Amino acid sequence: MHIAFIGVGNMGGGMALNLVKAGHDVRAFDLSADALARVTAGGATAAASAGEAADGADVIVTMLPAGTHVRAAYEATLFAAARADAVLIDCSTIDVETARSLGEAAAARGLAMVDAPVSGGTAAADAGTLTFMVGGPAAAFAAAQPILVNMGKAVIHAGGAGMGQAAKICNNMILGATMIATAEAFVLAEKLGLEAQTFFDISSKASGQSWSMTSYCPVPGPVPTSPANRDYAGGFAAALMLKDLKLAAQAAATAGASTPMGGQAESLYQLLVNNGFGSDDFSGIIRMLRG
Ligand code: NAD
Repeated sequence: MHIAFIGVGNMGGGMALNLVKAGHDVRAFDLSADALARVTAGGATAAASAGEAADGADVIVTMLPAGTHVRAAYEATLFAAARADAVLIDCSTIDVETARSLGEAAAARGLAMVDAPVSGGTAAADAGTLTFMVGGPAAAFAAAQPILVNMGKAVIHAGGAGMGQAAKICNNMILGATMIATAEAFVLAEKLGLEAQTFFDISSKASGQSWSMTSYCPVPGPVPTSPANRDYAGGFAAALMLKDLKLAAQAAATAGASTPMGGQAESLYQLLVNNGFGSDDFSGIIRMLRG
């Protein structure tokens, strides 16, 4: 298939290359020449504009920083440039309202569009093992799914337009809050004289267990692959966790939902980022909690 890929940065670059590897003809556009160079070296073609990339494409994928970029790209260019039977897939993490309104605008034009944010960082983007949470009409999901499987290990239909984003921010609100709770508990255990490994052995088999503990433990040792073992470098940046918590707060305000734990997590991640640790893995919040 001829696939237009708009936004080939840290995530989009690896994703576009996996589409090339799957045999697709990928035409990429990015404002950054460096980002474009990475994908052209891997076999994609560079386009001079988003419109040129989208012209005649079977599929249009966007992987952009935030809702403002996504709205501008679709409203200014992509809706008009898309073929009537093209499939539009936005993989960026953006606010639910923008995703919902773009999905509705696409439907009004007779275009198939899904919001398909991802779980998994750059390593999963490169390896093609992302999880896609997809919102949009059933027919649009069916059309997008064979493309998404080239970039991920799981593709799940979450409901209508915007529900992919809803699933993503609700999931990450749990993740932010459980990481803080887990980190707090390890710090308290430490101060009480309880060995981290012993506490892990007990709590990971008891009711304190969560993904934040058993897959991503915030202290070095118990889970060898967790970023704690490499001084919290790489992984899922605290600044991106903060972005997702802000999206959750915005959605909660719109929906009239009370999310006090999510709000507290947002506030603590804001403090961590303000202290200059935004590019560290989000589990590094344990250092701030330790004092
Ligand atoms: P990034 O900044 O590395 O990539 C975004 C790219 O978009 C950049 O190369 C930028 O030049 C390009 N861009 C911006 N505006 C553009 C425009 N108008 N036209 C063309 N290109 C444009 O960011 P990323 O880490 O790849 O993240 C992309 C999205 O994925 C974000 O919404 C982010 O929240 C989400 N996400 C990131 C991760 C992660 O671990 N990095 C994980 C899950 C989800």
